[in-house]
Amino acid sequence: MDIDSILKELDVSEIKIVSVVGAGISKASGMPTFRGEDGMWNNYRATDLATPFAFQRDPKIVWEWYRARMRILLEAKPNPAHEALTNLEKEGLSIGIITQNVDGLHEIAESKNIIEIHGRIRYARCNSCDYIERWDSEEKSLKDRELPYCPNCKNQIIRPDVVWFGEQLASQRWNKAVEWTLNANIMLVIGTSGVVAPVSSLPDFAKQNNTKIFEFNIEETPITSISDHSIFGPCEKTLPTFTRKIIEFSRGLKNG
Ligand SMILES: [Zn+2]
Repeated sequence: MDIDSILKELDVSEIKIVSVVGAGISKASGMPTFRGEDGMWNNYRATDLATPFAFQRDPKIVWEWYRARMRILLEAKPNPAHEALTNLEKEGLSIGIITQNVDGLHEIAESKNIIEIHGRIRYARCNSCDYIERWDSEEKSLKDRELPYCPNCKNQIIRPDVVWFGEQLASQRWNKAVEWTLNANIMLVIGTSGVVAPVSSLPDFAKQNNTKIFEFNIEETPITSISDHSIFGPCEKTLPTFTRKIIEFSRGLKNG
C-alpha cells in the first residue's frame, strides 16, 4: 500500500508521531556503529568495554575508549534525517524521539522531546552522588588524561552517563517511552533492526494499539513484517522525503 492510502486509512484529525531511532540514522554523520566491523577499538570489543565490570577492573582503558569516541563525536554533525525529525516537531506532529543512540545528535539538531534510552555519551556522572557534568569538549576528550574524579564526593571516579551492557534502563525513561508509544498514531522506526530488547518491544506495543508503523532502513529487518510500509535506502535521503509528505498531509487535514 502506498503512503497516502495508509495515511488516509488513519482516520484521525491529528497526526501524533513517535520515532524509534537506532544507529542507522547517525551513519551519515560519521558515527561508527557499535556492532559489526565498527565495533572494535585497539583490539578491544565494544561489548567488552561498555560494561560495569570493565569499568571496575580497568577504568583507565574504559575512559580512554570513551575519550576516543568523543574525539570522533566532536566532529559529527546532524544530517538531513535528524533535521527531518526536528521539522516534524516544529510542525507540531511529533510526540517525541526515542533513541538508542548516545551521540546527542538529535539535541544538536534542536529537537526538544527526546528520550535517550541508552543514556548520553556527552555527559559523565557519579555513581555515588547526583553529580553530573558535560564532557564533550576538546580538552576533556584529550588522550592520556587523568581519571576524572567526582568533585563532590572526591574519591569516586565519574563515569559516562550511558547504560552499559548488563545494566538496567532508567525506569523513568522507559515508562515515558511506553507512554509516548501508546499516545501515538504513527510510529517511525528508523535505522534500527529492532532486535535489542526492550526497545524492540515498542513496535509491538504500537502494533497492538493499531498505530501505523513506517520503517526506514537500508535493508529488511525483523520490524519489516509488522510494518505498514517499509522504505529501504539511506534514511538521510528517504526520511526527509517522507516527512515533507506527512507535513503536507497534515496541513491538508487541518484545512479540511
Ligand atoms: Zn560523587
